[in-house]
Amino acid sequence: MSFADLGLSDELLRSVADSGYGEPTPIQRAAIPSVLMGKDLVGIAQTGTGKTAGFVLPMIDILHHGRSRARMPRSLILEPTRELAQQVSENFEKYGKYHPLSMALLIGGVQMGDQIKALEKGVDVLIATPGRLMDLFGRGKIMLTDCKLLVIDEADRMLDMGFIPDIEEICGKLPKDRQTLLFSATMPPPIQKLAQKFLNDPKTVEVARPATANINIEQRLVEVPADKKKDALRDILRHEEFKNAIVFANRKTTVRELATSLKRSGFAVGQIQGDMDQSDRIAEFDRFKKDEITILVASDVAARGLDVKGVSHVINFDVPWQPDDYIHRIGRTGRAGMKGIAITLATRADAEAVERIEKLIGHKIARAGEPTKALKEAPSKSEAQPKRGRRAEPKRKLEPKAEAKPEPNAEAKPEPKPEPKSAKQQPPRPERSPVVEDIKNEWNGPMPSFLSVSAG
Ligand code: ADP
Ligand code: MG
Repeated sequence: MSFADLGLSDELLRSVADSGYGEPTPIQRAAIPSVLMGKDLVGIAQTGTGKTAGFVLPMIDILHHGRSRARMPRSLILEPTRELAQQVSENFEKYGKYHPLSMALLIGGVQMGDQIKALEKGVDVLIATPGRLMDLFGRGKIMLTDCKLLVIDEADRMLDMGFIPDIEEICGKLPKDRQTLLFSATMPPPIQKLAQKFLNDPKTVEVARPATANINIEQRLVEVPADKKKDALRDILRHEEFKNAIVFANRKTTVRELATSLKRSGFAVGQIQGDMDQSDRIAEFDRFKKDEITILVASDVAARGLDVKGVSHVINFDVPWQPDDYIHRIGRTGRAGMKGIAITLATRADAEAVERIEKLIGHKIARAGEPTKALKEAPSKSEAQPKRGRRAEPKRKLEPKAEAKPEPNAEAKPEPKPEPKSAKQQPPRPERSPVVEDIKNEWNGPMPSFLSVSAG
């Protein structure tokens, strides 16, 4: 099936051809005709499957007819992060180049003046993060009564970021007789509820099991003691043949530290994390896109959905806390039919998180190489425990390295959400056991927390 079979206008077919796309992706095939018919839609597909064009293309044709009025945008797209909002606007520019549509971007971290000016002239498409939109709404700068088309993109991420109440409020301000599209990689219960409440008899398209990792991604897990993680990362970056890599860490501070330390080791590296200005993030991301830097160290929120073509490697410096973040992270590679490699560094303390990820993706991640010699020397039982000021436990006197000193960048784990810890802590395993391997079949704990998280 080609794009021409989907009912899009000739102008759009031209801009799609200019983008170099041969065929629509499965989600695009399923979504586009139904959106063009004016139906509500729930689109479930993993990251990197082309959901953006799945709504941007039909929207351009829908909005082509009709005029915008001052302060009353005709359509609204909600995105969880500024970067994603920016990318969607770039998509409008790319595909809409033969259609004169006006657009405004409402995102935090940039001057509001120009955004307000654009709005006052009237826009066909408003792309916003919920926070900034609510802000402007409060100032009376915007009315949504003429907004006949709403897109809630990356809905599961909106949930993670606590945006669901905002979205509910925003939905209430839109006219009832509108078209609503909701896209998500996964459908946890609160998102299902949201869809039931605000969509009208939607068509549901699901192109792959939710949260199934892309088959074009080769996944590996490297078991390593916590204090050897940086060495392991450098080792990988030196020995893997990579074109470019995104390195994920769980915390902003780790992102910063890693970027600095990799730079010192001579790598062309940049960073993107939540504490940076919007303009700095964009600049950094551009350098990565242009190959001026080959390594981008990133945190989850900052990197969500970043669309870089042909990232060859994703490296998880930390195992993500939420199993679906794993899917999102590794989804940066293996995009649009290309092959990618995802390498995850895991310490013994990550055993349970790894277990949950494997449960979610439905298979074991291949362990790369042998456990290192270092692992033998430091059975790293203490990793699961708070480190600050702790003395090595008496039991550990078998270890050759007696002075088990606290790590400089302690990985002490304040969980972002208090997770129901699976009842049992792992029994001490002083023997040289690969980090996760041996406790494999024991985990029988609660469901991954994101499946049961509530919107309230
Ligand atoms: P998602 O929102 O599902 O995570 P995106 O919309 O960001 O995915 O698209 C992922 C990548 O696939 C982008 O680089 C995009 O340009 C590319 N892409 C989208 N549609 C097609 C297509 N039909 N053929 C080839 N590449 C495509
Ligand atoms: Mg997307």
